[in-house]
Amino acid sequence: ESYLTRLKLTEPQLNSFLHLSNNVLKEAQAIDEKIRRNEDVGPLAGVLVGVKDNICTVDMPSTAGSKVLENYCPPFDATAVKRVKELGGIVVGKTNLDEFGMGSTTEASAFQVTANPWDVSRVPGGSSGGSAAAVSARQCVVSLGSDTGGSVRQPASFCGVVGLKPTYGRVSRFGLMAYASSLDVIGCFGSSVADAGILLNAVSGHDRLDATSSKQEVPDFTSQFVSATLLESKPLKGLRVGIIRETLDNGVDTGVKSAILGAVSHLEELGCTLSEVSLPTFSLGLPAYYILASSESSSNLSRYDGVRYGNQVVADELNALYEDSRAKGFGSEVKMRILMGTYALSAGYYDAYYKRAQQVLQSSFMCGQEKFHPSACVRTLIQKSFKAALDENDILISPAAPSAAYKIGEKKNDPLAMYAGDIMTVNVNLAGLPALVLPCGFVEGGPAGLPVGLQMIGAAFDEEKLLKVGHVFE
Ligand code: GLN
Repeated sequence: ESYLTRLKLTEPQLNSFLHLSNNVLKEAQAIDEKIRRNEDVGPLAGVLVGVKDNICTVDMPSTAGSKVLENYCPPFDATAVKRVKELGGIVVGKTNLDEFGMGSTTEASAFQVTANPWDVSRVPGGSSGGSAAAVSARQCVVSLGSDTGGSVRQPASFCGVVGLKPTYGRVSRFGLMAYASSLDVIGCFGSSVADAGILLNAVSGHDRLDATSSKQEVPDFTSQFVSATLLESKPLKGLRVGIIRETLDNGVDTGVKSAILGAVSHLEELGCTLSEVSLPTFSLGLPAYYILASSESSSNLSRYDGVRYGNQVVADELNALYEDSRAKGFGSEVKMRILMGTYALSAGYYDAYYKRAQQVLQSSFMCGQEKFHPSACVRTLIQKSFKAALDENDILISPAAPSAAYKIGEKKNDPLAMYAGDIMTVNVNLAGLPALVLPCGFVEGGPAGLPVGLQMIGAAFDEEKLLKVGHVFE
């Protein structure tokens, strides 16, 4: 009831949700009954969970923030949602997003603009802006988002909450509407590292409905949280932390930089050994990501043809039906991505764009001591340079974004400036690694300062370490 009251008071200014459940109290009462009867209830019993609207839910619409799917109600729950419900979680509603996850501000939703709870004239980040704002404003306890190029981590940073992008394959994508399938991951938001870890426990693990979901064993991510190490004076003694040099270069706001340097001294106080590492492939990430993500999306979104799902425009013949349904259904950012992706994949241009994004740009490109073959895939190079850095370090750190939350409308007409803001996050998706973002300070701005997020990157399937370090850090 207290959460619902809070929701009612804050939602008119924030617009975090596209749909709200009418069954929250009924479901909570059913759990209460179970507890009274001494029946088993799961670890999420009664916990209100927000779910990004590109994740399918059987009892509520799932629109991906697109007119093309307005009023669409899937006949099934995404595996992640099913698991949340089985463990007692209550889905409070579906959160706003940039259409199909394409954007960094949530302004590209076809339905509404979500405001940042720290300053309602600013964006909450994106594309999972609704999920981040909802947790930040305590409209729900935890929430699910999706992260293709930073969509969990950047909004977590802008809204001052914890955001966790799991290793690719850790969480089933079944029921997550595909944006770029080789990069998409469902991720978790919480107001503490422990909350994000508890949610990750619930949604992780192999699923036969997603061929790319991993069979890797799922540890209890929260087992180390109640630990005596927290009482030690140097609880992270010996932990090797690499600061990624390229992420603190020019282009990062000075306030963000000093918050990150503050976090660095905090890590040092906790006993970590710090060193600077270089990721020579860092600058390749952004152009490669935008070519690859647009190309994959142009293929994935071809299913929205007005016949199989969602809204259909009445037309005399089939091609007109496709054209009109798409013309009316998709917003301008999505159309631009489909055009870019189709262009990059088309005959004659394929070699110049898509293939080039997959290949290293300079034949003499050096990464560490190794000389790579000119035809090596950019993604492999990025993975290799992360691996080299993670062989020497337990975790790597960087800002989650080059700036704090900016004003609504500020970058709306400058897509390149918006894309540039993804520089800190996209490489992690290209390498498939897990990363945790948590608040580490504030910069000036808004009525009460604006939060800054620290990104911690770990080795594949080592979410446990990230959560442990994050928990001690906060
Ligand atoms: N901002 C990036 C994009 O627009 C990332 C989005 C995401 O992770 N879904 O593609």
